[in-house]
Amino acid sequence: MKVCPNCNHSNMDSASFCTTCGMDLTNTPIQPEPIQTVPSAPQVMPPVTVYQPKEQEPYSWPDVCAIIGFISSLVGLFWCSVVLLPVGVIFSLLGFMGHRTRGLAIAGLTISLIGTLIKVCVVMTQSNLLPDWVVKGIFNA
Ligand SMILES: [Zn+2]
Repeated sequence: MKVCPNCNHSNMDSASFCTTCGMDLTNTPIQPEPIQTVPSAPQVMPPVTVYQPKEQEPYSWPDVCAIIGFISSLVGLFWCSVVLLPVGVIFSLLGFMGHRTRGLAIAGLTISLIGTLIKVCVVMTQSNLLPDWVVKGIFNA
């Protein structure tokens, strides 16, 4: 292109006269096209979302404990085993330290605590530790 020395208008390479001011451009050197200086927006790289397969961590002890605690609390609940429920509590507490099986640990802990509560109630009822009105109700006493 030819830049008019008079008015700085950019003219075609073939232009003999400036299209704006009519200046003679025959002796004006052809200039290379200015590189499109579109303010190159700072290359905002999209957050690299390369899917990295989550490295399968080996099962740690807390995970195993959570599983053991969950199972033993379940078994303890349904069989009302006094031995298994504390085991379920302890292992669930241990399993709580593992970040992967925390939900399982909470479940095991809840189940074993409920089971313990039921068991305590049953034992107290059977051994007449609870007053009559609690066992039979106030009006049936
Ligand atoms: Zn001009």
